[in-house]
Amino acid sequence: MSALGDEIKAMIASDGPITVERYMELALAHPELGYYMNRDPFGAEGDFTTAPEISQMYGELLGLWAAEVWGSMGRPNPVRLIELGPGRGTLMSDALRAARIVPEFRAALDVTLVETSPTLANIQYESLLTSGASIAWCASLGEAPEGPAIIFANEFLDALPVRQFVQRAGRWRERTVRLNDLGQLAFGLANDPEPYIKAEAEEGAVLEISAAGHRLMFELGARLVKQGGAALFVDYGHGVTGFGDTLQSVRAHRMVDPLADPGEADLTAHVDFAAMARSAQATGAAVYGPIDQGDFLRALGIDVRARALAERAPPDRADEFDLARRRLIGKGEGEMGALFKAMVVANRAVPPPPGFQPYPARQA
Ligand code: SAH
Repeated sequence: MSALGDEIKAMIASDGPITVERYMELALAHPELGYYMNRDPFGAEGDFTTAPEISQMYGELLGLWAAEVWGSMGRPNPVRLIELGPGRGTLMSDALRAARIVPEFRAALDVTLVETSPTLANIQYESLLTSGASIAWCASLGEAPEGPAIIFANEFLDALPVRQFVQRAGRWRERTVRLNDLGQLAFGLANDPEPYIKAEAEEGAVLEISAAGHRLMFELGARLVKQGGAALFVDYGHGVTGFGDTLQSVRAHRMVDPLADPGEADLTAHVDFAAMARSAQATGAAVYGPIDQGDFLRALGIDVRARALAERAPPDRADEFDLARRRLIGKGEGEMGALFKAMVVANRAVPPPPGFQPYPARQA
């Protein structure tokens, strides 16, 4: 068992079971032993791969998206370009390079990276050394500079902890992590049922609630309403609130037991976009989507971009752009196009952003 696993066991042995939410928080964000704190989890060598790591096209299209949104915001100068959970800094690096074709935008922006992991912040620093942009780091959105903003959050919401409630004999009980008879970590249920959840559901149904996600939506929505701008969230999840246990743990590109080695494997939950949208709307912000990542990237012109890159690539690399394109927008098994969704939260003065406009997507 991992060092963090031993620490969590000791914690439970002395103070009793912890909630799934607390477990997830410790597994990902324990200051020394949390999963993101001291590793680079991305890519073929790591545990999982994300859209910006699959292809430069992803960050480039998002950079051009941001330039268009900036134009529709009335070209504020300065404009804050903020990224939540930037991973290796790849998305931002590709976005800034693409944004050079709109020099006024490039000149107006300053970049803030919101990152809790010192290891990843260091990797981001290296990735962005030659970007030529002014970049600052902080640990929470609340510390980012004020003013009109364009915000990216790619695979960020799925890393925020969720509470889980399980239906048993007509009552909802919070799911916990406890020690079993062998002293191993095991799922359990709180003794006392929740008095305030009345939804009818089948025996064993699981309800997930991300308090951290709702807090973020309130904070971000309020900021955008007051100071202007738009935020783009891309993540895997569902557009309608429903029941189901979506807690999943991934290590070396395989699903593993979420309780096996806390701190050594990624641990995420699907994003309940409908729930996030409700909280954002409660602040007075507009919400667009969620729409499928595949439809979003097509509307931004990924087909044309992939062809242009292939034409300029040496022959032995010409295929890679089309393969990446298909992985990003395809809607079949192992492809991201339908599994991942894009949603925008924006100030009401910002018109529907590219990809979310109510006319049919541009044809390639
Ligand atoms: N956006 C990147 C990385 C996604 S992984 C990509 O798509 O490749 C999640 C990222 O969020 C990591 O950088 C992780 O360190 C960061 N993170 C997780 N929880 C966070 C929190 N509460 N505050 C700030 N950053 C967080």
